[in-house]
Amino acid sequence: MTETPLDLVGIGAGPFNLALAALLEGEPGLKARFFERSAAFEWHPGMLLPGAKLQTACLKDLVTAVAPTSPHSFLAYLVAHGRFYQHLAAEFESIDRREFADYLRWVAERVPSVAFGHPVREVTATAEGFRVHLDDTSVSTRQLCVATGRSPIIPEWMQALPRERAYHNAEYLLRELPADVRRIAVVGGGQSSAEVVLDLLARTHTELAEIAWLSSRANFAPLDDTPFTNELFTPAWVEAFHGLPETKRARLLASHHLAGDGISPQTLRELYQTLYRRRYFDAQGACASLLPGREVFAAECLGRRLRLFAHNRLTGTYHHEEVDAVILCTGYRSVLPACLAHVAEHIARDSFGQPQVDAHFRARWTGPGDGRLYLQNLSEHSHGIAEPQLSLMAWRAGVIANAVLGIQRFPTAAWPELVHWGDLVRGDRRLRATSRSNG
Ligand SMILES: Cc1cc2nc3c(=O)[nH]c(=O)nc-3n(C[C@H](O)[C@H](O)[C@H](O)COP(=O)(O)OP(=O)(O)OC[C@H]3O[C@@H](n4cnc5c(N)ncnc54)[C@H](O)[C@@H]3O)c2cc1C
Repeated sequence: MTETPLDLVGIGAGPFNLALAALLEGEPGLKARFFERSAAFEWHPGMLLPGAKLQTACLKDLVTAVAPTSPHSFLAYLVAHGRFYQHLAAEFESIDRREFADYLRWVAERVPSVAFGHPVREVTATAEGFRVHLDDTSVSTRQLCVATGRSPIIPEWMQALPRERAYHNAEYLLRELPADVRRIAVVGGGQSSAEVVLDLLARTHTELAEIAWLSSRANFAPLDDTPFTNELFTPAWVEAFHGLPETKRARLLASHHLAGDGISPQTLRELYQTLYRRRYFDAQGACASLLPGREVFAAECLGRRLRLFAHNRLTGTYHHEEVDAVILCTGYRSVLPACLAHVAEHIARDSFGQPQVDAHFRARWTGPGDGRLYLQNLSEHSHGIAEPQLSLMAWRAGVIANAVLGIQRFPTAAWPELVHWGDLVRGDRRLRATSRSNG
C-alpha cells in the first residue's frame, strides 16, 4: 500500500506557523501537520523579562486581521481567562510580552495539527513534493511551509571569548552570570540591549558595579512608531515593495531600519529616568557608562577579564574596555535552516544570493517534482521591513492558507489603502472600489 501524502507540513511552530495552523484548523479535508522541535510552546524564553512590552498592538494577533471571528484571537483568550474587563480597565499603552507569550501558548495547545518535541532533521524532494524526516519516522507532503525563525548574529571577535562569560542575549535568562562579575559590557543598540541594561540596573543585590553599554549607532535611537511609518506594516506596502527592483528594495530597506529596530520610546524613557535616579539619588546598584558610536572590532581574554577593542566613530579614536562578562545584543538574521540543506540548491536566488519568494510567500523552486515550498520570515529582502515582525503574521498566514487551499478563503486583498504608493493598476482598482461604494 502506498502512503497518501499530507497536503501541508509546517516546520517550526513559533508565532508565524502557529498563525497558519490556527487559520487552517478545521478546514474540511485538509491534512496538515506542523512539527516543532521544542517539547512545549516557547516564545523567545531567554528574553521574557518581567516588564518587557510587546512592540505591536495586541489586535495584530495570530488571526484577527483575516479571521476576526476565529476562536484563536487575543480577545477570545482574554474572555476565556476571565480578564476581558480588567484588561481594558488597566489601560495598557502596550501589553506585557509575558501575556502575549501566554496567549500564543494557549493557542498552540488548542490546535491539534501542531506536534511538539519533533525536530525536523532533513527534507528531500520527491515526485509528489517533499519527504520530511523526523527522528523516528518520515512523512511525505505536497506542500511545505518553513518558519524556523531567525538566528542570533555572532560577530567574529566573539570567538576569542569564553562561552560562560560572553553570550548572545537570546540566552540571557537561560544562563546565570558568574557571581564575580563586577563590570559587564552590553554590545548593541536595539530594543534587546535596552531591556538587558534595564534588567542589569535592577539587580541591586549582586557584585555588579558598572555596565558599559556600547552601540555602533550614533545615539540610542527610538523606534519610529508613528502613523505613516506604520503604513510600512500594511499589505499594501508589502505588495508595492515586492514589485520594486532588487537594488531599490535593498536601499529602501536600509532606510527603514529604525521602523523595526529602534528602541521603543517607552523603554527609552524608563531607562533615562532610572539612570537619572541612579546618578543623583540611589546609592545601591550598578552605574552605567553609555558609549554610543562605538564599533567593537576585536576582543581578547586575559584570564578572568575580557578586553573589548572599540572604534569611536564620532572622534575617530580607538579605546578598550575591560569587563568580566559580555552580553551581545547584535540582533538576528534570516538563514535557511540546516534541515533544508539537501534541497537548498533548488531554491532560486536573487542577485544578492537571497531566496526568490513570490507574492504568496512561495519560493521559486527549480528542483524535481511539483511540490510547493512556502517561506516565512525569510524574505525581508523582497517583502520589506514587516517580514520579521508580528504585525502582518495573520495576513501573511491568510495569503499562504489561500494558496495552500487554492481558494480565496481569507480576505487578504491589499486595498483600498490610505497612502497611494503610486501604480496605475491599483489606482484603477481604487476608482472601482470608490464607484462601488457610491452605489
Ligand atoms: C525578544 C524578542 C521580542 C520580539 N518582540 C516583538 C514584538 O514585540 N513585536 C513584533 O512585531 N516582533 C517582535 N519580535 C520579532 C518576531 O515577532 C519574533 O521573532 C517571532 O517570534 C518570529 O516568529 P517565527 O515563528 O518566525 O520564529 P520563532 O519564534 O523563532 O519560532 C521558530 C520556531 O521554529 C522551531 N524550529 C526551528 N528549527 C526547527 C526544526 N528543524 N524542526 C522543528 N522546529 C524547528 C523553533 O524551535 C521555534 O519554536 C521579537 C523578537 C525577539 C527576539
